[in-house]
Amino acid sequence: MKHELSIAEVLSQVEKTVQPHFGKGRPADYIPELQRVDPRKFGMAVKMVSGAEYVVGDADEPFSAQSVTKLFALGIALNRIGDEVWTRVGKEPSGTPFNFLSQLEHEGGLPRNPFINAGALAVTDMLMRVAKRSDALVRDYMGFLAQSSLTIDEDVAASEVETAHKNRAIANLMKGAGTITHDVEAVIAAYCRQCAITISCRDLARAALPLAAGGFSPVVEETVFPERLARRLNALMLTCGLYDSVGSFAYRVGLPAKSGVGGGIVAVIPGQATIAVWSPELDRFGTSVVGFAALEAFSQITNCSVL
Ligand code: GLU
Repeated sequence: MKHELSIAEVLSQVEKTVQPHFGKGRPADYIPELQRVDPRKFGMAVKMVSGAEYVVGDADEPFSAQSVTKLFALGIALNRIGDEVWTRVGKEPSGTPFNFLSQLEHEGGLPRNPFINAGALAVTDMLMRVAKRSDALVRDYMGFLAQSSLTIDEDVAASEVETAHKNRAIANLMKGAGTITHDVEAVIAAYCRQCAITISCRDLARAALPLAAGGFSPVVEETVFPERLARRLNALMLTCGLYDSVGSFAYRVGLPAKSGVGGGIVAVIPGQATIAVWSPELDRFGTSVVGFAALEAFSQITNCSVL
């Protein structure tokens, strides 16, 4: 990062820059419980590999992590199951919305990547072999990495289970194709509970830090996964982390990142830091409008792009 301001000054500049972007998006409404969140929330946290930490706004308020959890679920799967994961899910950008169905039919039930819903459902199915409660496994892993105790929002989980018609259709198609092996309802329940994990920006930036430090966690003070895995997860985020707006994100921000429909985005500056941002109003791709703008401003001010 090359800049003259301190990170604290950068964050306060970013907070000013994003103000005109409020009101341009809408919180997720297809999971009814997510609509209850105050749309004007904004928090951001930067955690440096050196250990320093900077926050602004609502950075300590837990929010619904949603698809941000897919990053950690994949990390566990690759760590515990290894390359066999790639027999059930691909690693190519999808170019389609997160809950797209018809690609599966054309490609024999093999999801394009682990971050679209189909791919994440396949990962959940695999994690159910590792632990009976795969959602608790992901929650506890994220909590361990953040050195914080995380919870699952039962109301959000129940709300999504009730309205997960599209995800059920995806899971049924995959069950028919053999890319999901457990009972469809059990996979949907585990997936929705995983998505309902809540985390603050501060904890999310801490949890993701090994991705910026070659698998070493300065928070836990130990190597939590191999350097190769950090590189691979960063590559997948850069190419697939924001569904069908991943190209615009690379163009405007230039960092590996993962978004979630709760309005959170986590981004990695390899070798230097992680950034977590949260603001609930989403664009049509399911990405936080203000969060995207904040990361763009941060990367412009600090010139931290990997590209
Ligand atoms: N639980 C959400 C879903 O399956 C996750 C989507 C997202 O966060 O991008 O629709």
